Amino acid sequence: MPGSEVEVVVVGGGAAGIAAARRLVEVGVDCLLVEARARLGGRAWTVTDPSGFAIDLGCGWLHSAEHNPWGPIARDEGATIDKSTPPWARPSLELGFPRDQQAEFQRAIGAFFARLERLAQNADDTAATAALDPGGRWNGLIGAVFSYISGAELDRASVEDFDRYEDSGVNWRVVEGYGTIIAGHAAGVPVALDCRVDRIDHSGKRLRIETTQGVIAADQAIVTIPSTLIAAQAIAFTPALPEKVAAAAGLPLGFDDKLFIALDRAEEFDRDVRVFARTDRTGTGAYQFRPLGRPHIEAYFGGALAAELEAGGEAAFFDFAVAELTSVFGSAFARRLKPIRIHAWGSDPFARGSYSYALPGAADCRQILAQPVDNRLFFAGEACSIHDFSTAHGGYHTGVLAAQEVIAVRRGSK
Ligand SMILES: Cc1cc2nc3c(=O)[nH]c(=O)nc-3n(C[C@H](O)[C@H](O)[C@H](O)COP(=O)(O)OP(=O)(O)OC[C@H]3O[C@@H](n4cnc5c(N)ncnc54)[C@H](O)[C@@H]3O)c2cc1C
Repeated sequence: MPGSEVEVVVVGGGAAGIAAARRLVEVGVDCLLVEARARLGGRAWTVTDPSGFAIDLGCGWLHSAEHNPWGPIARDEGATIDKSTPPWARPSLELGFPRDQQAEFQRAIGAFFARLERLAQNADDTAATAALDPGGRWNGLIGAVFSYISGAELDRASVEDFDRYEDSGVNWRVVEGYGTIIAGHAAGVPVALDCRVDRIDHSGKRLRIETTQGVIAADQAIVTIPSTLIAAQAIAFTPALPEKVAAAAGLPLGFDDKLFIALDRAEEFDRDVRVFARTDRTGTGAYQFRPLGRPHIEAYFGGALAAELEAGGEAAFFDFAVAELTSVFGSAFARRLKPIRIHAWGSDPFARGSYSYALPGAADCRQILAQPVDNRLFFAGEACSIHDFSTAHGGYHTGVLAAQEVIAVRRGSK
């Protein structure tokens, strides 16, 4: 490891870095996957709750599942794929949100997405707020749902970028955890954990990669750290790469956090049913009852609300959830709730957010970020994906693409 020489260093052991390193190892390239944390997976992270259930603090859904490369990998790893309908495609609980209002909301959000698609055809990019129906009754809840998708409020997000996202509408889960599958895919890959990269000097004949465990010399590097960290220059490049820093600054990571809550007498509720406490504002949580049939509530907070709760510390999430849930089910309901686990991704030094969105006018930053430098520095990670950004499968595809580019260069065909 450090102090050493390898052909290729892959920086960051999340979905993109693992996919890239695995591909390199498969074709016999001498590579090292260098990860700052004490674990692999990055924003894919499965932990076990006190009852033994695998819970995903980061990605949980195999979006575009029938084309998602992590599906076959999960099957190869012997995991169980759950294909049941996701909560957002089922009716929500009627309490406080009657069926006729739910139908009205579905029509309103459908019209919002149609307007957004039309706006994206304009030459000038704009913020997603422009797709709202001014004064519309459902604008608050549309903003909330948008914050779960993008991690940001409508006024921060580019319509052009949002419209480029490709979604097949098929969503599955892995019972053993998405994070388990992604980390498991690194089997056979040489890895250095607890090894933060601080500088990549690409001024000399070989790359000089300075880490907290020493210097590594390499021919090429694939950098997969989140765009927030590129923008903050958490890794210093010598010479500097101002184009990359500017592109990454156009692709911040929005905030989305999940709080898992144990629910006493959970069987009273249908599985995978969603509850909204408020339908008139953006700062509200989405509460998924009995995810995968388990005695849990998976509470989801997005955008400015998630940022505000992170600032309040972990207890702030549970307090907020209890206040919203008791407003629907009555004050005695609080006694049935016990916090299990939250991870505040915005405060996580190796993520600084949950998933990327593009600022208005910054949709093309994804291609700029992904562009190799001198056929020696390659970039991957979900923020580099034009159509699958913000997802674990987007991370995978960018990682494999970067690995293939490296392989082509090494074979002299580039
Ligand atoms: C709450 C939440 C819910 C989500 N839900 C879904 C979902 O349902 N479906 C879905 O597809 N996606 C979802 N995502 C997004 C998905 O998790 C990410 O898009 C994906 O995991 C990103 O992979 P990546 O490899 O691009 O980045 P990362 O996973 O962030 O990997 C980058 C790695 O680089 C490491 N690193 C950082 N700095 C350094 C350094 N200086 N030196 C060395 N290593 C460094 C990090 O520790 C990290 O391991 C969710 C994310 C969150 C947070």
